[in-house]
Amino acid sequence: MPSSNGQTPDLSAFEGINASDAEMRDVVIIGTGPAGWTAALYTARASLQPLVFMGPEPGGQLTTTTDVENYPGYPEGIMGPDMMQDFQTQAERFGAESRYGMVTDVDFTERPYRLLIDGETVVHAQTVIIATGASARYLGLENEQRLLGHGVSACATCDGAFFRDETVAVVGGGDSAMEEAMFLTKFAKEVRVIHRRDELRASQIMQERAFDNDKITFVWDTEVVDVLGEDQVTGIEVINNNTEETYVMDDVTGLFLAIGHTPNTGPFEGWIDMDEDGYIQTKPDSTYTNVSGVFACGDAQDHVYRQAVTAAGTGCMAAIDAERWLSEHGVIDEPRTETEYHATPSAASAEAA
Ligand code: NAP
Repeated sequence: MPSSNGQTPDLSAFEGINASDAEMRDVVIIGTGPAGWTAALYTARASLQPLVFMGPEPGGQLTTTTDVENYPGYPEGIMGPDMMQDFQTQAERFGAESRYGMVTDVDFTERPYRLLIDGETVVHAQTVIIATGASARYLGLENEQRLLGHGVSACATCDGAFFRDETVAVVGGGDSAMEEAMFLTKFAKEVRVIHRRDELRASQIMQERAFDNDKITFVWDTEVVDVLGEDQVTGIEVINNNTEETYVMDDVTGLFLAIGHTPNTGPFEGWIDMDEDGYIQTKPDSTYTNVSGVFACGDAQDHVYRQAVTAAGTGCMAAIDAERWLSEHGVIDEPRTETEYHATPSAASAEAA
């Protein structure tokens, strides 16, 4: 069933690929951020042996941040990459199988669904859990990427506390930029919003709040052209779009990008219903998409909360939805009970014996 977006699914990538002996799985999870690994943990514990595909950024956005201090259960905080390693280890302990590979194309015409991996190999899946996340947009500057996690960030909630009494810059003029700027005023002594035009895109109320905040200043008609510093940001170079004059702000030690996010949902276009920005639309109070047996969780379907803990929550929902779906469609014999979800494997096997 094609999506309601009016796009036609493109199956040309599958042409000429022999999939007669393709691997068949009950659950394939695409993505390895908090949503994907939580879905893997729950489906593994339900004995569904999920196959998890790790894309170009294993661990997702958290691997581009340093300390995570807002995930419950880590009172001292934890490094983002370490936390994602813990998620993976925990899911694999219960039987999740992880594999490197990009799901480049899908065929959701009929079950079992076909997934094309790296444009070469087909895997058949009874259910698919999409947990491909979203990627923060960056300016595309070489030094911006080099200093990511060392003064450059796309997440004030994650990294703002490291800039206590410092001067930071926020790039962007939308609601995210205003929200990030206001959050950063809790820590920084000055937050400089750098916007490429002379009027904001942000909603009126967000603009007013930002204008009313004494710690926030605005630099109009200006873009960042370079990020300075060896191991840590020590300044930024900017250009005034009207005068074309470039100059250095050498008091800026933190650069926050708030120029939007892009959901990683390209391979599902034409199949899965999405909003105008490409975020997957799920049915209320569930992770169901418009395609039966295909579920979506995490930032690929959430542009509002975008937190690791909310992504993990919807990953859990997707696992339970998929497991119930498999039972209802006769792919697995019995629905797993809630008790089985909570039992350890050894307790479960002792019961079975
Ligand atoms: P957005 O509304 O698309 O704003 C992106 C901003 O970044 C724009 O001001 C844009 O400039 C600027 N920008 C884009 N590319 C740039 C580049 N290469 N160089 C410099 N500047 C660049 O994105 P968003 O702020 O993330 O918001 C996304 C959606 O979420 C919106 O619908 C928003 O209302 C919503 N949201 C709501 C809240 C809230 O209500 N609390 C909070 C966050 C987000 P131009 O203006 O010149 O295009």
